[in-house]
Amino acid sequence: MKMRLWTILFLSLSSAAMAKQSAPKNIIFMIGDGMGVAQTSAYRYFQDDPNTADVETTIFDQLLVGTAATYPADKTVVTDSAASATALSTGVKTYNGAIGVDVNKKPLKTILEVAKHQGKGTAIVSSSQINHATPASFMAHNEYRRNYDQIADSYVDERINGKVKADLMLGGGTDYFIREDRNLIEELNTQGFSYIDQLEQLHSLKKLPAIGLFAPTGLPFAIDNKAMPNRVTAMTETALRLMSEKFSDEGFFMMIEGSQIDWCAHANDIACAMAEMKDFASAVQLAHEFTQQNSDTLLVITADHATGGLSVGGLDIYEWRTEVVAQINSSVEVMLPEFIQLSNEQASDQQIQALWSKHVDFELTSSHLTLLKEAFKKAAKSGGKWPEMTQKVIGESLLAILNDATKTGWTTKGHNADDVQVFAAGKGATLFAGFQNNIDIGKKLLQLWGSK
Ligand SMILES: [Mg+2]
Ligand SMILES: [Zn+2]
Repeated sequence: MKMRLWTILFLSLSSAAMAKQSAPKNIIFMIGDGMGVAQTSAYRYFQDDPNTADVETTIFDQLLVGTAATYPADKTVVTDSAASATALSTGVKTYNGAIGVDVNKKPLKTILEVAKHQGKGTAIVSSSQINHATPASFMAHNEYRRNYDQIADSYVDERINGKVKADLMLGGGTDYFIREDRNLIEELNTQGFSYIDQLEQLHSLKKLPAIGLFAPTGLPFAIDNKAMPNRVTAMTETALRLMSEKFSDEGFFMMIEGSQIDWCAHANDIACAMAEMKDFASAVQLAHEFTQQNSDTLLVITADHATGGLSVGGLDIYEWRTEVVAQINSSVEVMLPEFIQLSNEQASDQQIQALWSKHVDFELTSSHLTLLKEAFKKAAKSGGKWPEMTQKVIGESLLAILNDATKTGWTTKGHNADDVQVFAAGKGATLFAGFQNNIDIGKKLLQLWGSK
């Protein structure tokens, strides 16, 4: 009996020691917002080299370890980004719209806050505004995600050991950080923060703490950002460089979000979504290379939920036309105002084709042209009295043409509750194998750093 007790004691001591030993110094946590299984599958075919017989694997295929369920605390099954990011950052299920608070609106401790309490470096990177739901769920506590000004304020006002919670913040959001009533950038300057507002300045950023805001709200879509389509990658590169330099002893926690995979899928715009996937994949590639070179680093990548009910192939045709997707060079959001303008001018077929070829490398078929002209007619009937109706009618026809040409299916303009994938590499990666609940991911991260 005594022997057995000693054995148990020895075993539990050694497993505690192992847990300590396997605790990574750095955690890089990456979230593809809206990046469901269909999104990563579509991306595999999209980036395939047509000159080889095999379909090349992606970085996601290479790092796949498990899956996660994403449902929120109630019985709606379909989560929003706030509830899901809170699950990932705190290990607790909550209601849709909740930012770092539980179902009773009580603040929860986030993994980023745990890192800061331990003296580690902390960073958030996103292609949305940095106070949008996903990054906010790591940084803030608010009962409602759309309280953007309050959330931005709390980034500056809530301190840990007297210091702002994040050492580095990169993304969009000048509308919320530079306001009439409060200039948070000036306040951060007095706290020693450097500030940049152009992506081109990322390379010249030399010290922390720092904040970079590159757009009034979210950054332009990757597909439309011809100068720097891979802006999540560029921000990730800067974050890895600065954080590993400054926190080489203490380690760091970093949350990097590919925010707009979700936004393109809400728009049911496949080419837009693939450009976002491409940017996020190359950011993951960079983080993976860092993890390979720094064996004390854990890299975990997942999605908060899937979006759009994307189907790789649709419209009853057994084919998904990747080469057609690759010939679309603008988002519908960018094309739309130009087509609305043209519809007001009662344009000829040639004029419509000419505008189309400014954005798309394949020609409109005659049935697609008819569809578009029908939409123009419908919009004209309203006499410009309902600009929203015009937008909807012409926008929907552009989407219908693009989705028909590529044979892409969508079932919703919202989110869907299909499980998402979990990808991991580095120290502790095996912990994320198999099926898990999204809160398990948050719990495992917290446990690794001795919290909970
Ligand atoms: Mg998000
Ligand atoms: Zn969404």
